[in-house]
Amino acid sequence: MKDPTLDFLYLIAIVLFVVGLKGLSHPESARRGNLLAAAGMILGIIITLFYPFGNTPNNYAWIASGAVVGGVIGYLAAIKVKMTKMPEMVSIFNGFGGACTMLIAITEFKTLPPGTEFMSGQVLTIIFSLFIGSVAFSGSFVAYGKLDGFLRDSIKLPVPQLFNGILLLGIIVLSGYIMSMDELNYTYVLILLLLSILYGITFVLPIGGGDMPVVISLLNSFTGLGAAGAGLIYGNQVMIVGGILVGASGTFLTVLMCEAMNRSLINVIIGGLGATTLSSDSDREKVYREATHGDTAILLKYSQKVMIVPGYGLAVAQAQHACQDLESMLEKEGVQVFYGIHPVAGRMPGHMNVLLAEADVPYEKLLEMDDSNSELPTTDVVLVIGANDVVNPAAKEDEGSPIYGMPIIDVEMAKNVIIMKRSMRTGYAGIDNPLFYGEKSKMLFGDAKDSLNKLKAEITNA
Ligand code: NDP
Repeated sequence: MKDPTLDFLYLIAIVLFVVGLKGLSHPESARRGNLLAAAGMILGIIITLFYPFGNTPNNYAWIASGAVVGGVIGYLAAIKVKMTKMPEMVSIFNGFGGACTMLIAITEFKTLPPGTEFMSGQVLTIIFSLFIGSVAFSGSFVAYGKLDGFLRDSIKLPVPQLFNGILLLGIIVLSGYIMSMDELNYTYVLILLLLSILYGITFVLPIGGGDMPVVISLLNSFTGLGAAGAGLIYGNQVMIVGGILVGASGTFLTVLMCEAMNRSLINVIIGGLGATTLSSDSDREKVYREATHGDTAILLKYSQKVMIVPGYGLAVAQAQHACQDLESMLEKEGVQVFYGIHPVAGRMPGHMNVLLAEADVPYEKLLEMDDSNSELPTTDVVLVIGANDVVNPAAKEDEGSPIYGMPIIDVEMAKNVIIMKRSMRTGYAGIDNPLFYGEKSKMLFGDAKDSLNKLKAEITNA
């Protein structure tokens, strides 16, 4: 018999999830939100240990071994991972979440009691969890490979949309066939499993470049839906609610990111934006000017308003603290300093916010893209630190560009633009940036942290 106290404690865990999630909506409450949600998860796990699951006795030795092995690996990974590798880690964790759902679904097929009605909601839920878990599993590992760079965007299927369409149709037909069986033939379940894993691979493989953030967030929502499906299989409320929360928040994030790039989700999925196309048809002359640290320091010191636009390079250089030091120095000189934050700057949603929060940059100084663009006409100097795609004017000027239509921080509206990076190399989308050749632009070459430290020294001496 189930003790009603267990359900009550589950309810507390669910409330902790919801309150925790709410906390994540603001950087100031995010840490607390995270801890509350983690407390909810720990509570959920503990209650589950006391929860009777039909006639199956809870196998504590297996559960304890899984928790210890998983906990140790997760802990070590979280401690060791570099901030720049966080998206890869999110992809891997996502993949494991999908794998769990996939394994639960396969096991459930194995343990269906004889005489089970296959044309039922129960079997449909198991098939759904099998499919969605497998797609999240394989798709996340492909996304990981792409982010890590060992899977190149040039690896392409000849006709991806057609192939994926046929594959999806095959999966639907096979699912229908399994449900129409009188007695389960496990071979068909294994074929469904393989096709679903394949679909995850071929679904993510053609998508590349600037669309990767959307894919990761979409796969995250898949994992949530898969977990909710697994919760339905077990009739476990905390799994259902937890899964739905992940599924819903992942979906919202996906939609918001699509809006940030001015693309529809369908366009992202079937558009298969190539990342390696070099857009070179800009009319601008390709001559760039270089700045020195001395000139830039003087320009900054005698400005009234400065905007810092950070990007992935700031994370690579781990220059957030140096950046915050420069900001404080300039403020002491009476300069007003803001940060212009593009929603997909970096390699994961909110990457720049997290990075700058780590350096104690006050949240009020971070302007969202639209607010940044409104401030730019009255800004004296924009310091673009390790950002490239998110300030690329090709997104609004060059219809042939793979990032055409993506909103950008329009730094050219400011009076002066200083671009801090190591070379003239491209950013994530692999395309040239006409901003570098603009008449207001100057390149300040070097590692972002070194350059910021040199700027600080020059400002002190100026
Ligand atoms: P980009 O990748 O476009 O550009 C980063 C730039 O930083 C590079 O051009 C590089 O130039 C420079 N850089 C690298 N290391 C250093 C260093 N140590 N010091 C100084 N500069 C350095 O980054 P953005 O942030 O502008 O754009 C993000 C891109 O990533 C977008 O295309 C986005 O769609 C995509 N993306 C975003 C995700 C998200 O969720 N936010 C997830 C996945 C992809 P150089 O080598 O010359 O130094």
